[in-house]
Amino acid sequence: MKGFLNGDEKALLCGDVHLTEEKKSEYFPAALKNSVMTKRVMDEQTFRDFLDYSVYVARQGCKELKEGYIAPSPYKGNCEYCKYGGMCGFNKDVGGTRVETDIDPATIASIAREERGEGGNR
Ligand code: SF4
Repeated sequence: MKGFLNGDEKALLCGDVHLTEEKKSEYFPAALKNSVMTKRVMDEQTFRDFLDYSVYVARQGCKELKEGYIAPSPYKGNCEYCKYGGMCGFNKDVGGTRVETDIDPATIASIAREERGEGGNR
């Protein structure tokens, strides 16, 4: 799995009971001893904040929909395989697409903390 992980020892052991201190799991890129957290393996609080960001984005999307904003804003490349291309009205040759070159989970977690009024570290 190539997703994002809660690097807390108990959480990692829930994903792989055979995990050791040094050897990474064969299922995900982490070992019990993650002395240096990678971008994808976060401490528990950062991981929780990272997940909270998705709630924030979903709420923001609902708010925009209720206000009548329905313009498509796809990520670059998504339209290449999307089955709704014939009805969404987006012209990929004219409309701009979004590009994320460097997704930093710690920054995303910081945005979620800011949205809760706890102050981020951006
Ligand atoms: S074709 Fe339309 S619905 Fe599909 S990803 Fe592109 S903008 Fe979104």
